[in-house]
Formats: sequence, structure tokens, C-alpha cells
Amino acid sequence: MVLADLGRRINAAMTDLTRSNVVDEKALDSMVKEICMALLESDVNVKLVSTLRANIKKKINLKDQAPGVNRRRIVQKTVFDELCALVDCQPENGDAPVFKPKKGRSNVIMFVGLQGSGKTTSCTKLALWYQRRGFKVGLVCADTFRAGAFDQLKQNATKAKVPYYGSYTETDPVAVAAAGVARFKSEKFDIIIVDTSGRHRQEQELFAEMVQISQAVKPDQTIMVLDASIGQAAESQSKAFKESSDFGAIILTKMDGHAKGGGAISAVAATRTPIVFVGTGEHIHDLEPFTPTQFISKLLG
Ligand code: GDP
Repeated sequence: MVLADLGRRINAAMTDLTRSNVVDEKALDSMVKEICMALLESDVNVKLVSTLRANIKKKINLKDQAPGVNRRRIVQKTVFDELCALVDCQPENGDAPVFKPKKGRSNVIMFVGLQGSGKTTSCTKLALWYQRRGFKVGLVCADTFRAGAFDQLKQNATKAKVPYYGSYTETDPVAVAAAGVARFKSEKFDIIIVDTSGRHRQEQELFAEMVQISQAVKPDQTIMVLDASIGQAAESQSKAFKESSDFGAIILTKMDGHAKGGGAISAVAATRTPIVFVGTGEHIHDLEPFTPTQFISKLLG
């Protein structure tokens, strides 16, 4: 089920409740059941769904409510809040704060993700995002695995007018990453974004490479790029990357397509790492900041 259908089903379940003559335990149960089914069919993790179900039932205590209280409003707000909580990572909930680049020093941002997830595209989008906000940004291509990777980054960077670094001859990604970061640091760049290689599958070699590059460039922030349409695989993939590269943020790509965003919801919850931006198209400007309430409002239409 794609994300738009998930939203439609959750809405329909709430509308059914709104239309019923009495908002009692039975009506509430059937709404919660339908919402949970819809989430499960969208690949949201079973444990998360059962926590959400328990929370909704705990928060909506129909018996103790005074007469005249608008039960429908309470139900709708509770469902909305609980859906937001699924994708909201906050320091007050024990999650790490989101990194913000500081001016006057070189901030290194390293990207990780599987091949095809939208890593190179997102690197350029983020570089442009910061450049437009007055930062001096450079892009480093440390993908020596895929033929054509440097040309792709070069093409994107040129289009965005962002300085870039890469090599056609050096085959060691760690060496290229270190040299690129050193070059931009010596030229006092504010933000240095390192694009790394991917593989089609989660492979040990890839994770080992991420550890080595990370040790060489000492990133201030590591971002995992996640294709919103990958479904259940999102959870194991993000856990594996979390172990090897301890990323502190997620960019969720291809949200404009037929995304089954449930996997992404599970990835956030499994790693307690926030989504910071979403990719909404193939063009360099198609990047939007992520906010849980907006995401859920959009989901519910
Ligand atoms: P990489 O292998 O992870 O570096 O992935 P690429 O950046 O090369 O992207 C793979 C494909 O996904 C390309 O065709 C991109 O244009 C496309 N892509 C990346 N981000 C988005 C997005 O947010 N929306 C859409 N529709 N396509 C995207």
C-alpha cells in the first residue's frame, strides 16, 4: 500500500467513527484496529503498531470523560499525536540533538546509503540548500566503486554551481575522501559534503569502507539516504548502517513517487534517528525540510 492510500485508510477509519451515532469502546476499537491494519500493510513494524494501539487506548479513556466533551475531537487529536510520535525524534525523548553546521569552521558531512537510494542527487541538493543560505560548500566524490560516479557528481555540482573534488585515477575511496576534505578545509570552506559509494545490497565490504572513510574524514554529521519506497527492508538496512557509520540523520528520498513510507517510519523508530529532509523529485531544488506534523498532516491529507 502506498503512502497516500495509508492516509486515506486512516482518514476513512476516523470518519467512520465520526459518523457513528455513539463514540463508545466498540466504535473506538474498530477504528484503532483498522488504523493498525493499515499501518501493518504499509510495512510499519509490528511492535511499533502495538505500542501505538496501546497508547491510543490508554490516552482515550472514554469512561472517565465528562458529558459534553467532544469525544471525536479527542480521538482525532490523539491519533494524530501518536502518528507524529512515530516519526518524531527529540532530545527531550532521549534522542540525540540534530546537528546544525556552524559558521567560521569546516563542517564535514558524510553521506551513506545503498546504490540507487538517491545519495549523489541528495548530496547536491543539500549542498545547494546550504549554499543558498550563505555557506561556502564543497562536494567530494569518494565513490570510486561505480564507474561514472565522479562524472555524475561533477555534472550535478556544475549545474548547482558548487565546487567539487574527485579523481579519475585514484582507486582508494579513503584517499580521495581525505584529500578532498583536506583541500576544502585548507580553502576554508564552511561545509564539506562527502559522497560515498553504495552497493546494490547490504554488504560487509561497504560497511567496512564506511568505517574507514569515517575515520579518515571525521565527519561532524553522517546522513543516511533512504529510498522511501523500499518498504520493510528499510529497517534492517538502517540498523546495519547505524552500526557501521552511526549516522545522525536521515534523508528520505523519492517521496514524490509511489512511496510506501511505512518502512521509513520503522527505520526512524528502529534507529531513533530523525529524518531531516525529504527528496521530492529529481531536480536539484526538490528538497524539503522534514517536520513530523507536516508529514502526518500531508499523510492524512
Ligand atoms: P545513488 O546511487 O544513491 O547516488 O543515487 P542517485 O543520486 O544516482 O539517484 C538514483 C536515481 O534516483 C536517479 O535517477 C535520481 O534522479 C533519482 N532520485 C533521487 N532522489 C529522488 C527523489 O527525491 N525523487 C525522485 N523522483 N527521484 C529521485
